[in-house]
Amino acid sequence: MEKLLELDKDDNILVSHTILEYNSPDYVYIPLHPNYQIVVSQNKHVSIGDIILTNHVKSYTSPISGTITGLKSVTTLNGKLSALEIKNDFKETKKLAPTHKITLNNLNKEAFAKLLKQEYDLDLTNKTSLVLNCLDDEPYVLTENFYLLLYYEGFLELLDKLSKTFNITSITLAVKSTSSENINKLLECLGMYPLINLQIIPNLYLLGHDEFLLKYLNLNPAESLVIKASTFYHIYNLVKRNRQKNTELITISGPMLKNPSIIQTKIGVLAEPLIKNLIELEEGEKDFYINGLMSGKIMDLSKFIITEDIHSIIITEKKETKEGKCLNCGLCLEVCPKNLNPLLLKNPQYLAKNREKCLNCGLCSYICPVYINFNKYLKGAENNVS
Ligand code: SF4
Ligand code: SF4
Repeated sequence: MEKLLELDKDDNILVSHTILEYNSPDYVYIPLHPNYQIVVSQNKHVSIGDIILTNHVKSYTSPISGTITGLKSVTTLNGKLSALEIKNDFKETKKLAPTHKITLNNLNKEAFAKLLKQEYDLDLTNKTSLVLNCLDDEPYVLTENFYLLLYYEGFLELLDKLSKTFNITSITLAVKSTSSENINKLLECLGMYPLINLQIIPNLYLLGHDEFLLKYLNLNPAESLVIKASTFYHIYNLVKRNRQKNTELITISGPMLKNPSIIQTKIGVLAEPLIKNLIELEEGEKDFYINGLMSGKIMDLSKFIITEDIHSIIITEKKETKEGKCLNCGLCLEVCPKNLNPLLLKNPQYLAKNREKCLNCGLCSYICPVYINFNKYLKGAENNVS
């Protein structure tokens, strides 16, 4: 893995092992997705798990019990969207009827494979090897690590069941070498699961990416399925407890807060009150990176909601880094794991041809000594590399 490197980070920033909870927000917001139909009306009461939006294959359910109050404008990673607002009644009433017939004790192969495809876009067809990816690539993020730490017993139970039901011959638990607590816990109980193999993965950026992880593990991508620990938790919750995805863990960390933490939050909450309620911020202007310093985006948090694709918010001092003139040092070319020439991303033809190939990993901007931000080309901004 000659091109992968260990990222610099401040070792004084430590994420607390106490999970903070934000499970009783005043409101949650369900963004309207294209081609999904709203199946609730204004002023209707909904329980946790009631379907709000559906395209008749996949559905979005209510994370709280309360009343539909109307449409509001919110911000997500995909920009501004309309969302259905639900006002919490704090009664936590739950939908009683099961949403599907698959349970851990009745794991029908065809039905389970269909569920994985529909809900999580995971394809088990012809797979003989399964990798549970518990790696957080981004600095200061420990979300996947904590999913494993909190739910490892359930994960082992489901992995064992999957290996027997689906004739999967190789099951790998990929854990970062820095996760000593997870490694110790797993070593204590893996004796009971002879089919599950623990792999300790070096702390190199991008080994959490499926492509590089499979290469490192020497597994054939056509025969292997990689599942993130966060996704696996939701699958486990569905088949074991018949619970729809309505909460998630996110890491809130970085140099501009006093208590870097893992938060368990309802999906659809506004990020600002969440931070105000649980996080102690340092004085000064800040940047809020959603989903990592390397591959994430700086976002304005007003009206920003926590959707199911958010795994971290990293808070740093506001940076006004001025880009310098390119030194032609070649470092950006050297570091690119996809062998692209980042300097050519400003060229519309080159960008169009390689946009899909680029991982948006941020390594080219990270390594550049004159702070050229290549990310802007991926978003179609003006040519600035001189
Ligand atoms: S962001 Fe794209 S161009 Fe830059 S190093 Fe990563 S893969 Fe290469
Ligand atoms: S863009 Fe930055 S890293 Fe790339 S050649 Fe120029 S100075 Fe070096």
